[in-house]
Amino acid sequence: MRVHACHFCSSPVYPGHGIMFVRNDAKEFRFCRSKCHKNFKQRRNPRKLKWTKAFRKAAGKELAVDSTLTFASRRNVPVRYNRDLVATTLKGMARIEEIRKRRERAFYKNRMKGNKEKDLAVDKKLIADHPELLKMRAVELRIKEEKRQAKEAKKAQEAEEAEMGVSEDEEMDVSEEEESDEEEESNIRQKILLKNKPKSRTRVKF
Ligand SMILES: [Zn+2]
Repeated sequence: MRVHACHFCSSPVYPGHGIMFVRNDAKEFRFCRSKCHKNFKQRRNPRKLKWTKAFRKAAGKELAVDSTLTFASRRNVPVRYNRDLVATTLKGMARIEEIRKRRERAFYKNRMKGNKEKDLAVDKKLIADHPELLKMRAVELRIKEEKRQAKEAKKAQEAEEAEMGVSEDEEMDVSEEEESDEEEESNIRQKILLKNKPKSRTRVKF
């Protein structure tokens, strides 16, 4: 069983999947899905489409130059079958894969280095340019705190009622009704608050 790589996006094409196009000079083109096949028929350049491996490698977003990547490439020199060679190759494949993964991880980490500081700087600039955002955030926090307090108060009330006991059924019924009324009122109040709240589209990290 051989897992081919898609001619367009380089994703794996498993047996029974995708489509193969054979040009009249007998060159095979395998595609992982109709998306890749269609793009190929439109004569699009995979290097210019951001979702392909070709683009990512050309743009320096993925490990492209590495000795571990050369093992899988095809060579035009035929190799005579040798049982020992096959055994060592199979053993080596796992090890090379391991090394490749580690290098890719390191490459990614190196590429993403400094992003946090950059984001923080952007956020700080945003705050400096639009100080009104901080006020919006304060309102947001206040509403949150109010909600939390209401919840706690309700919990405390419930605990009290539980302590009062089951014998006072009638009273409990009344208090429950009252409570539901109160709840409704607070809900309406919150809705009004939300309506009056200025709309903050940009979320700011702190
Ligand atoms: Zn593909």
